[in-house]
Amino acid sequence: MTSRLLIHSGTLITFGTPCRVLEGMALLVEDGRIARIAPKETIPGPFDKVIDARGQVVMPGLLNAHMHFYSTLVRGLGKMTPSATFQEVLDNLWWRLDRQLTLDDVEVSAQVVLLDAIRKGTTTLVDHHASPFAITGSLDRIAQAVQATGVRACLCYEVSDRDGAAITTEGLEENARFARRCQAEQDPQLRALFGLHAAFTLSDATLERAAALGREVGTGFHVHVAEAASDVAVNLEQYGLTPTARLHAHGLLGPNSIAAHAVHVTDADIDLLAATDTFVAHNPQSNQNNAVGIADVVKLAARGVRVGLGTDAMTVNMLEEIRMAMWAQHLRQNHPSCAFMEVANTLFVRNPEQAARLWGFPLGTLAEGAAADIILVDYHAPTPLNSDTVLGHLLFGISQATVDTTICAGRVLLEGKRLTIAVDEAALAAKSRELATRLWERF
Ligand SMILES: [Zn+2]
Repeated sequence: MTSRLLIHSGTLITFGTPCRVLEGMALLVEDGRIARIAPKETIPGPFDKVIDARGQVVMPGLLNAHMHFYSTLVRGLGKMTPSATFQEVLDNLWWRLDRQLTLDDVEVSAQVVLLDAIRKGTTTLVDHHASPFAITGSLDRIAQAVQATGVRACLCYEVSDRDGAAITTEGLEENARFARRCQAEQDPQLRALFGLHAAFTLSDATLERAAALGREVGTGFHVHVAEAASDVAVNLEQYGLTPTARLHAHGLLGPNSIAAHAVHVTDADIDLLAATDTFVAHNPQSNQNNAVGIADVVKLAARGVRVGLGTDAMTVNMLEEIRMAMWAQHLRQNHPSCAFMEVANTLFVRNPEQAARLWGFPLGTLAEGAAADIILVDYHAPTPLNSDTVLGHLLFGISQATVDTTICAGRVLLEGKRLTIAVDEAALAAKSRELATRLWERF
């Protein structure tokens, strides 16, 4: 690892509130953190490495708040029966697929998608993993891929009751085991949450056990909430509560928990999410793809819910996802100029905020003391670029530009658009194709 790295002559975009644009400032990285932001001439050498960022914007590495690495191996799979509802999407595709995953599939799919994340400037990902017939050790195999690629990830196993009691127990134990491992090792690349599929696939008894174990290992929870109307209908019919209210009744919401989607939430649910300070991961591309509706980001934010941005495995390109979030919200609100700040805040404010809670130190922002997770993007601003205009540049221009350099924890992972980590991409892709072919045969 480079111990003293200087990045100079680029335009700095800080993210956070306010998102500032700094010209004439250099960044000094020491031992994985941003040690100084100051004019170049005021930072004395020597340096182990110097990067000239002329013609580039220098920004924090991007963060993905809801992801499923394992879905990489589904690309091009055309064998499933066409689905008419969200439940059929699960039955015909995802639950058929994840039951066939092996530990090798799990690790290789993570490696492939994490390399792609590096190329897109995404340095921190919160994953939600399922492989019901290869559970024990699955999070270690993903962790191995995370460590090998040099990014950061927060992992969990998605417990559900859909495959019987023994598999439920194995999933609960995998979460607890991995959380204990993370606490013991304190590897700054790895964090754990306690994963749950969704309220409609979990009995009260399982929610109770998860809550107790999660409290014991000291993690928040990561769970799909009210993604489709069917989640709400099943919970109301069987338990007399909405998914949000039911999770809350079991103590599963809270400042370290992530509720993915929150598309079909009532006003009372929104108040619960706000009161418990639960983070909502909005996934607009996935919601459109599954035709489940679009979360009301404007209403959620107005009522005090912290809404961030995930991709639900549709992409690792966060600037693509945020553009989609903007257009989807315009359609949702039937208003072409609403929601600009609410949507911008998801990626540039809320995701860094939640990641800092999970990791226990600041990341996702350019600030002295924050993690040195930094990307350089080729960009010559064709209109004035300053703190007033930066969000427009991010959405309409920088999102279309190329990531040149990706740095995570002070380590350069991509430079000059080439991966600098020891990995044979062609061999990895060949291995992935081989595993995918076998997986598709079993599907
Ligand atoms: Zn998901």
